[in-house]
Amino acid sequence: MPRHIVCLTFDFDTQSGFIARGMTTPTPLSRGEFGAMASGRILTFLKERSIKATWFVPGFTIESWPRECAAVVENGHEIGHHSWAHIPPANQTRVEEEADLVRANENIRALTGRTARGYRSPSWDLSAHTIDLLIKHGFLYDTSLMGADYIPYRARRGDVAELGKPFQFGEETSLIEMPISWSLDDYPHFEFVRTPQSVLASMQPPRAVMQSWHDEFSYMKKTVAWGVLTITMHPFVIGRGQRMLALEDFVAKLAADGAVFMTMEQAAEEARKRLFP
Ligand SMILES: [Zn+2]
Repeated sequence: MPRHIVCLTFDFDTQSGFIARGMTTPTPLSRGEFGAMASGRILTFLKERSIKATWFVPGFTIESWPRECAAVVENGHEIGHHSWAHIPPANQTRVEEEADLVRANENIRALTGRTARGYRSPSWDLSAHTIDLLIKHGFLYDTSLMGADYIPYRARRGDVAELGKPFQFGEETSLIEMPISWSLDDYPHFEFVRTPQSVLASMQPPRAVMQSWHDEFSYMKKTVAWGVLTITMHPFVIGRGQRMLALEDFVAKLAADGAVFMTMEQAAEEARKRLFP
């Protein structure tokens, strides 16, 4: 019996990403603040459709927006780990990375009663130590790598990439990788960001983007009997009215096409049974 899973995921960054990039003047901060406001309308929409989603919430957001985070938990959604301060692990030492991991996990334990099962790195850039640290701290899955599209796989540690030499594959671990893609993330499609170094001027029409996401689902259905499509969104991005309307129609279309919606933890558990029969 074919089974095509869709995980709707929300990276609840609020102001953390802007602060991590040094954008601490009032307007960028307010842009992150909009995410806290928009989280309520996303929760309402998910409730209307009886969909359980996964929210990757930095410790910063849990401490700064306690009522909004409590509402996510009260609605039955999974809380995943998304660092404390939204600094990519690739920019941290192992000691800094582990301290950040532990600090945010304590926030998640206080919020939900248990530590996180899933991890998503800020800005999707793991360090050489991340997989080790996730295993050490009892994680079931990571969702930061792009080595597949619909089929979860075992994360490796100890890969070696050296210029001029063949790639050396490290050992497969017990950590389940739930692959992602920038093309399935709302941020690069929709945001306008100007920094001294760069300009990201996307502002794509929401329905065109959602059509491309739906095409991914159609291709998954066409090519595999079982698979997981993970969509990454940010409340401060997707929460704008024009995008919410497009999201509502996209989800309705997925449901009509037989998509099975679940949390990433549930999908990772299914994947684990397949990878470790
Ligand atoms: Zn984030």
